[in-house]
Amino acid sequence: MRKKIVVGNWKMNKTVAEATDLAAAILEKLDDGAVACEVGIAPPFPALTEVGNVIEKSAVGLVAQNCHFEDDGAYTGEVSVNMLASLGCSCVIIGHSERRQYFGETNQTVNLRLKKALDKGMQVIMCVGETLEERESGVTEKVVTEQVREGLKDVSDLGDVVLAYEPVWAIGTGKTATPEQAEEVHASIRSTISDMYGEVAAGQIRVQYGGSVKPSNAAELFAKPNIDGGLIGGASLKADDFVAIVKAAS
Ligand code: PEP
Repeated sequence: MRKKIVVGNWKMNKTVAEATDLAAAILEKLDDGAVACEVGIAPPFPALTEVGNVIEKSAVGLVAQNCHFEDDGAYTGEVSVNMLASLGCSCVIIGHSERRQYFGETNQTVNLRLKKALDKGMQVIMCVGETLEERESGVTEKVVTEQVREGLKDVSDLGDVVLAYEPVWAIGTGKTATPEQAEEVHASIRSTISDMYGEVAAGQIRVQYGGSVKPSNAAELFAKPNIDGGLIGGASLKADDFVAIVKAAS
């Protein structure tokens, strides 16, 4: 039985003070005892330390939104896995569609970042998903399969890997994939993992859904057999909504 995982991606939102308040509000509303899924929050880099202090003694994990693939060096504006680990991060999101779309991230750089994070013992959430144009031209499965295969190239152990299927057309747009549309792609991702790593690994890996998940649609999405929780953007910025989504996954 796979444990569901719900992670809030705060993107480039919240000052340090606002982030600290949001983390405290989430903890207050989240009754740890009643939460049966894994929960994480991914504040922007400057707020990691303070948010980490707020959630330190809770079951909520501290997640980073990106990492670089080198240990250190002349990479202005980038952050290494060691730096994130030193702030208490246990998990990092890699290859979010906004990184791919606006910052030139490719399957190859996703693969480099992912391998570096795994080498350092960090859990990784690798995002994949098709654009609207790709869906409309019928190449969703091809694109997503390629992202999974290339992103995981030369990775032998999936123990610390979570995948997130996030159709680009559903991110921040209010358009959610129907549970059936999402389930179809999740099943295809699991079948790709089975081809690459065998049935046992395919049965164990968790595949989150992301794209306009809200309290009103979360339970229906999470009820699908191949959907193992969610990566939540907009709705994770409101404590009530995020906690309602976590409870839907519990
Ligand atoms: C995301 O950024 O990962 C995301 C799914 O955003 P939203 O929930 O706002 O669509």
